[in-house]
Amino acid sequence: MASEKTHTDEQTHFRTCNLCEAMCGIVIKHDGKKVFSIKGDKDDPFSKGYICPKATALQDLHEDSDRLRHPVERTANGWKEISWPEALDKVAAGIQSVQKKHGQNAFGVYLGNPNVHNLGGMLTIKHLLTSIKTRSRFSATSIDQLPHHIVSMHLFGHMLRIPVPDVNRTQYMLIIGGNPLASNGSIMTAPNMRQKLKDIKARDGKVVVIDPRRTETADIASEHHFIRPATDVLLLLAMLNEIYLQGYADKARAKNNRAAALAPEIERLADFARDYSAESVAEITGIAAKEIKRLVKEFCEAESSVCYGRMGRLGKSLAY
Ligand code: SF4
Repeated sequence: MASEKTHTDEQTHFRTCNLCEAMCGIVIKHDGKKVFSIKGDKDDPFSKGYICPKATALQDLHEDSDRLRHPVERTANGWKEISWPEALDKVAAGIQSVQKKHGQNAFGVYLGNPNVHNLGGMLTIKHLLTSIKTRSRFSATSIDQLPHHIVSMHLFGHMLRIPVPDVNRTQYMLIIGGNPLASNGSIMTAPNMRQKLKDIKARDGKVVVIDPRRTETADIASEHHFIRPATDVLLLLAMLNEIYLQGYADKARAKNNRAAALAPEIERLADFARDYSAESVAEITGIAAKEIKRLVKEFCEAESSVCYGRMGRLGKSLAY
C-alpha cells in the first residue's frame, strides 16, 4: 500500500484515472517497477484532489499476480508466451479467416470504459473498427447512453450535441432516475459529486431527486420524491405540458429563441404532451399533481436549472 517515505529512484507521474468518465487527476509515485502511492492531484482543475477508492486500487491491478503481462498462446502443452508482433499477426489472421468464412459481421468487438476514457484508445480504436468493417460492435453504451445520442440527434441534429449539466453553476438540479453519487457523475465529467451537490445547497440552490429508490444521491438531496417504477416518461410529459400551460415556454421564446434554431421541431412537443395533465399522471406515477406543478414552477424560475437522468430515461439531460 501507499508509503510516505521517499525511495531511491522515485519518480512522480501525473495521470488521469481512466476507470470512469469523472477522469480524476492522479499522482503516481513509483520507481519504474513498483508503485509506492496513488493519490488525488490537488492541482487538477476538474477533480481538485478527489479520487474514489478505485483509483488507489489501480495499484492492486498493476501488482495482481494473475495479470497478463505478455501475449500468450494456448498450445497442446498449455499457455506459451509469444511476442507482440507474433500475437498481432495471429489475431489479424484469425479475424480475416472468421470474416472470410462467416461474413464481416461475424467478428464482434466489445469496448469497455477504460478504452473509451483513454486518449490512445480514442485516437486509434475508431480507425481499427473502420478497417475491420463489422457492425457487431458492443459496449456499455448500448444500455447506458444511446437514448442520449438519439434524443440529441433528433433535437439538435447531431448525436454528440448532448447537453451536459454545468453543475458548478447550477442552482436547481432535478435528478430523475440518476444516482451520480454512485456513478461519479456519468455524462458530466464531474468528479466529487457529493461535494458538488452539497455546494448547490450551500449557495441556496436546490437538488431534487425523483427515484423509486432512496439512493445515496436522494439521501443528500433537498427533496426526494418516490416515483412508481417505469412511469417517469409520464411524469416528464406532464412536466412538459405544465411548462407550456404555466407560460414558461412563451417566456423562454420571448427572451431567447435559440431553441427554435437549434431544434426546429421543438414546438411539436407541446402537441405531443397536451394530453398528459399533472392530474392525469398523478395516481400512476405516485406524485401528486400539485407537487408536479410546483416542481415545474421552481425548475423554470430558478436562476439556472438542469434536469439530469440516466439509464434510458427518455428526457436524459435537458437544460432549460
Ligand atoms: S471517480 Fe474514481 S474511478 Fe472515476 S475517475 Fe475518479 S478515481 Fe477513477
